[in-house]
Order: sequence, then structure tokens, then C-alpha cells
Amino acid sequence: MIPAKFDYVRPGSVDEAVQALAGGGEDAKVIAGGQSLLPLLRLRLAYPDLLVDVGGIDELRGVTDSGDALVIGARTTHYQLTRDPLVAEHAGLLAEATRTVADPAVRHRGTLGGALAHADPAGDLPAVILALDATMIAHGPDGERQIEAADFFADYLTSALGPAEILTAVRIPKIGPEWGFRYEKFHRTAQSWATVGVAALVRRSNGSVAEARIGLTNMGTTPIRATAAEQAASGAAASRDALRAAASHAAEGTSPPGDLHGAPDYRRHLAEVLTGRALAAAAGV
Ligand SMILES: Cc1cc2nc3c(=O)[nH]c(=O)nc-3n(C[C@H](O)[C@H](O)[C@H](O)COP(=O)(O)OP(=O)(O)OC[C@H]3O[C@@H](n4cnc5c(N)ncnc54)[C@H](O)[C@@H]3O)c2cc1C
Repeated sequence: MIPAKFDYVRPGSVDEAVQALAGGGEDAKVIAGGQSLLPLLRLRLAYPDLLVDVGGIDELRGVTDSGDALVIGARTTHYQLTRDPLVAEHAGLLAEATRTVADPAVRHRGTLGGALAHADPAGDLPAVILALDATMIAHGPDGERQIEAADFFADYLTSALGPAEILTAVRIPKIGPEWGFRYEKFHRTAQSWATVGVAALVRRSNGSVAEARIGLTNMGTTPIRATAAEQAASGAAASRDALRAAASHAAEGTSPPGDLHGAPDYRRHLAEVLTGRALAAAAGV
């Protein structure tokens, strides 16, 4: 289908983009890579009056080292994330998960900011960002605001961003060499979307797990942390059996969707199995 008519602006700075959004009110929308928004426009599931294209704002691109964290511009593409040496060294889980997103064509256009602002619980990167304890940096009419990942994903396809706010960057605390990680994803061969995905980080110490962090993809209306499994894994022996036992708690507190890719119970089972695999791989056992 052809999208409904809209006005289009391509500002050169974040301030101009915020002004354009504020002027357009509820009917204005940011467009970045367009990989999620354009299908919605074509299906007429969204019909904004104004699109504010952030593709011309150079300050939104790239990865910088800020000491104990990486700051990744919202307009950085998936492809760039998979190739960036700083991301590979300090946020390897993000690079690993991004490689599983869609196909090369989508990864060349899709952006980290778009994938997070879209807040799709079936998207791979929200659960990863949650497990990485990242902070979102947003700009709006009142200036800059920082939002913890745990507070950013408000509901199904709904982020904590206000209507005139732009996600400008994501701050990711560096993951040191004492951490192992793994993104496990189960999907149908014909398409890349996760039926369920699990992002796991494990810090080992003296043969046991000192700390575990687990983010779940597609197990509710938002990405969620598997807190019961995290608690069970933390302090457990770094062995496959102990981590599998911890993973049996992965689906606690979740409410996965049922659709043609799987019933809720099937997804709960997948979450447990994938969490066991991800924890074991992250712990190197
Ligand atoms: C064929 C296909 C397969 C796919 N497979 C997968 C997959 O396997 N896994 C996966 O995770 N994703 C998948 N996707 C989704 C895609 O990777 C992401 O949704 C996409 O990267 C979103 O980024 P974008 O820059 O294209 O966002 P856009 O489509 O431009 O925007 C998406 C939403 O975010 C908002 N937005 C964008 N940037 C900002 C910003 N800086 N500030 C505020 N709001 C903003 C827009 O207003 C819009 O609401 C697939 C998409 C397609 C088309």
C-alpha cells in the first residue's frame, strides 16, 4: 500500500529536530532507518502528518569511549555496530546480538536508536540493552534527560520518550574481561524475528558465578530481566547442571504472547532451554 500523505523535514541538528517535533505535536514522528516505521506507514497502521528525518544529523552517529562506558549515537546503524572495534572490545554482547538482526540490507539502514525507540519486545536489541544496564540519553524541549534501560521500555511498542523527545545516544558500561556473554535466539528459518531470545552476561569468580544478568526477548509486552533465574545463578557453581537448574526459573513472572510461531507454554519452555545454554556459554562451561 502507499502511505498516507505526510510532510517531511530533514534537520541538521538535534535542536532543530526537537523544534520540528515540538511544532508537529502528537502527529509528528522521527524517522531514522525506516525499517520499522516504513512498513507501518505502508500498512497505514501509522499515519503521521510530519516525518522528522534524523539521517542528516552527524552528531547522532558513531561510537565514543567515555572511560568506563561507550556512548553510541542513536543513528549508528546495525552494520556499524557489528564492525566497530570499541563495541567488539567493550560491549561484545551487543555486537553478537546485532549480527542476528534481520539481513544485511536491513542492518545497513536500521539504527540502534530506532530499534530501541520502537520498543518491540520481539526485537533483539532491547533485551540486550536491558542486560547491559545501559542508559538512554534523550533530548527534548526541556534539554537532556537520562533514562535507565529498566525504565525505558514502558509497554508494547511504547518507550518512555515524550512526543517531542529524540533518543540521541545510548551509554553502555564497559564489560570487562571477567565477564562472559551469549545471545541465544530461536527463530524460524524463513525469518529472523526471535520466537524467544536470551541475552546473558556472567561474571565468574573462583569456579562459581559471582553475578548473572539475563534479558529476555519476546516474553512479554516489553523486554524483561529474568530476575528469578539471575538470583538462582548468582552464587551457583559454574557448571552446566547448576546453570540449567538456575535457568529453570527463567520464565517466572513472564507473560509471553501466543501466535502462529508458538504458544505461551512453548515460549516458556524455550526461555528455560535458551537461558541454560546462554548461561553455560557465557560462563564458558
Ligand atoms: C525484513 C525485516 C526483518 C527484521 N528482522 C529483525 C530481527 O530479526 N530482529 C530485530 O530486532 N529487528 C528486526 N527488524 C526490525 C529492524 O531491525 C528495526 O526495527 C530497525 O532497525 C529500527 O531502526 P530504524 O532506524 O529503521 O527505525 P525507524 O523504522 O526509522 O523507526 C522506528 C521507530 O523508532 C522511532 N525512532 C527512530 N529513531 C529515533 C530516535 N533517534 N529518537 C526517537 N525515536 C526514534 C521512530 O519514530 C519509529 O517509531 C526487521 C525489519 C525488517 C524490515
